Amino acid sequence: MFTSLSQGNHSAMNPSGPALYDAVLLDRDGTLVEDVPYNGDPEKVRPLPGAREALDRLRAAGLRLAVVTNQSGLARGYFTERDMHAVHARIEELLGPFDHWAVCPHDDTDGCACRKPAPGLVHEAARALGTAPRRCVLVGDIGRDMAAALAAGATGILVPTPVTRPEEVAEAPAVARDLPGAVDEILRRDRAVRPVVPRTGRAGTVLVVRSDSAGDVLVTGPGIRAVAAGAERVALLCGPRGRAAAELLPGVDEIIEWPLPWIDGSPEPVDPDDMRQLTARLAAVGAEEAVVFTSFHQSALPLALLLRMAGVPRISAISDDYPGSLLDVRHRVPVGVPEPERALSLAAAAGFALPAGDEPGLRLRADLPAPAVDLPAGDYLVVHPGASVPARACPPERCAEIVAALAADGHRVLVTGGPGERELTARVAAAGGTDLGGTTDLAGLARILAGARCLVVGNTGPAHLAAALGTPVVSLFAPTVPFGQWAPYRVPTVRLGDAGAACRDTRAARCPVAGHPCLSGVDPARVVAAVRRLAPG
Ligand SMILES: [Zn+2]
Repeated sequence: MFTSLSQGNHSAMNPSGPALYDAVLLDRDGTLVEDVPYNGDPEKVRPLPGAREALDRLRAAGLRLAVVTNQSGLARGYFTERDMHAVHARIEELLGPFDHWAVCPHDDTDGCACRKPAPGLVHEAARALGTAPRRCVLVGDIGRDMAAALAAGATGILVPTPVTRPEEVAEAPAVARDLPGAVDEILRRDRAVRPVVPRTGRAGTVLVVRSDSAGDVLVTGPGIRAVAAGAERVALLCGPRGRAAAELLPGVDEIIEWPLPWIDGSPEPVDPDDMRQLTARLAAVGAEEAVVFTSFHQSALPLALLLRMAGVPRISAISDDYPGSLLDVRHRVPVGVPEPERALSLAAAAGFALPAGDEPGLRLRADLPAPAVDLPAGDYLVVHPGASVPARACPPERCAEIVAALAADGHRVLVTGGPGERELTARVAAAGGTDLGGTTDLAGLARILAGARCLVVGNTGPAHLAAALGTPVVSLFAPTVPFGQWAPYRVPTVRLGDAGAACRDTRAARCPVAGHPCLSGVDPARVVAAVRRLAPG
């Protein structure tokens, strides 16, 4: 049942691995040059410090460059197109050539699809550069830049200026001090997913590990595919809550389900007999090496000890804690890296890379089991009100208002949830949706999401399922963990919720702030607008 789907790619394996990005898109005013409002005068062009050298480093790395800029001064008649071209010629004189200029000439009243925060300029630039938005990173100085990047499925890096509002900084997926700092981060991320020392031959059986929930397993998918591309056989050790997701991942030949008390959120006491049985089970895999994937707040070391006791000769893991002789490859990752890239970077440290042509995004097996229920026909949105962690769930009454607002905007809304969430989905769906709570397993939910125009969901497993299917996500994101690490990866997204709420970075499982303000304040009208941005027409 668990045949690797990556086998067809072995001959095309690229030892250095595919790059994360093809292109860097840059906002103009406040990012490349000093912001002179409605500037039509080339004499007033002043590059920001270090911009030329930073751009040249991107050019030298083979990245294509485009400018994506709102120029509503054209619509307002403050300068002519000819003036603007003179300004752009001066910018190229000072900063070097750009491969494309994507300009929105409209203002907010035009309701165009290109003015940032709409994603139109990102789509245009990606198309002109012969790539896709998900292979682009956009650097800009305000929230509109980040929103446009996310809505296109591109990566965003904010470089704040004194006029950038604090809430824009709080919402950004990543923040750099200045343009050279953003370029450092782009080049560092790209390097991190490629092995320094590529493997010469294939590994035999490799044991990969990802405990915890469905979402955690899904975001580890690219790292597991990289291992699978360089191994004869992959066994995955997962926890009970991640099992259903593990069964959806390509590249996995065998699944071992075992709860790990140092990972589980509500663990049983450590049982010595259970640990002995686990060690014996791990020894029976016959793995010649293990790659232990963890989240940034989890330790790989207890399992590394059991793997040593099981006789696994080579073990790779991320560990800030000193591992002694528990690890052969001790990998370290700075904070703020998206979880899928974190996993890919560990695989790379162990010598594994994705094969050529395998995009570094989330992906599901091509042979998903047939759904047990009839799939909905026609055009629909999905609202998924539950979350594996209560602090990340939007309050039910607010979800009901969101369903009502979407229905009033003419959408057919399906409300999904697990078997334990039937009461919740019934209550939320009563506001104008169809209740599908408890009718599907995770694979069935994947089928439903694959046909949806858009998913409205908190930071929980189905958000990553949608990302794996390419379905856009309206993310009602509680800031208890960093958005840059846990946002739906490389899929069009709108982030809603208060990014600066007091629960920020607490990693709380239950909201520590009275009234759950980070998500209880989400305005249903903004959800309707987000759906329009992500799934127009
Ligand atoms: Zn426009």
